[in-house]
Amino acid sequence: MKSILKSIIEDSRDSTKLGQVATYIPELAKGDRDALGACIFDVNCDSILEGEYKTKFTIQSVSKVVILICALIDNGKDEVFSKVGSEPSSDPFNSLLKLEINENHKPLNPFINAGAIVCTSLVSGDNGIEKFSRIHNMMKKLANNDDIDVNYSVYNSEKLTGNTNRAIAYYLKGANIIEKDVEDILDAYFKCCSIEVVVEDVAKIASVIANNGVAPWSNERVIPEEVNRIVKAIMTTCGLYDTSGTFSVNVGIPAKSGVGGCIMAVVPNRMGIAVVGPALDKHGNSVGGVKVMEDLSRKLSLSIF
Ligand code: GLU
Repeated sequence: MKSILKSIIEDSRDSTKLGQVATYIPELAKGDRDALGACIFDVNCDSILEGEYKTKFTIQSVSKVVILICALIDNGKDEVFSKVGSEPSSDPFNSLLKLEINENHKPLNPFINAGAIVCTSLVSGDNGIEKFSRIHNMMKKLANNDDIDVNYSVYNSEKLTGNTNRAIAYYLKGANIIEKDVEDILDAYFKCCSIEVVVEDVAKIASVIANNGVAPWSNERVIPEEVNRIVKAIMTTCGLYDTSGTFSVNVGIPAKSGVGGCIMAVVPNRMGIAVVGPALDKHGNSVGGVKVMEDLSRKLSLSIF
């Protein structure tokens, strides 16, 4: 498997030239456009690292998976889905378009920015600091790494320029979907997006989900079974922004991408996979990451369908 991953990464390198690093958050523009690295971490704790696997990146929208896990554990399925939908969106991740016409102004799903901001507001904690700390602790536990932390340059850059997210959050407050202080919730959301990781951290998070919510290294249940099932379902239908359907056809694995260039993928009962390649396509997905996932899925017969 190591040699297969190595040759797939080498074959996919050219594709990164077709993408651009995200620039709408100024600090993300510093990402290495040519980097491509991956980690496979299986449910027996065997791991494979290839390419530029030491590349550090901010987790961005991949954190939405952890935010959803915390929101579901803290509130239950019915409460969460009374405030956010579970339908795919055909609009960009930061779109405000449907909020006005959706039933009760609910965001379409937890993996677009509007839905993730609502889920952040639902996480336990009296304020943004406590909510962030709940999500951060869950992320450290899922990655089995106590050292992962916020990249404060990216966080400050997001906070300074995150006006679309601010518009989304204030709209949701006006529609009574968010009840607490908007700036406080946004602060927790920006910090979650700005957590800095390497592919091994993300592959380990995915391996817990692949292992039905039980950490492979300790046999401790971290995610309740029902929550784990829901998260995999939403990853399958909504994980790659407005190209989730195409990804299901070509890869067929529950996954979540982020504008830091990461794709996290969960092969149920088998392995977690993380790929990083900061050059993005126009939908916000890593170009190299998608190519690596397509080839891996085909060569290792990973599609769940
Ligand atoms: N922090 C980013 C934002 O809210 C996350 C977007 C993403 O990775 O899709 O704009």
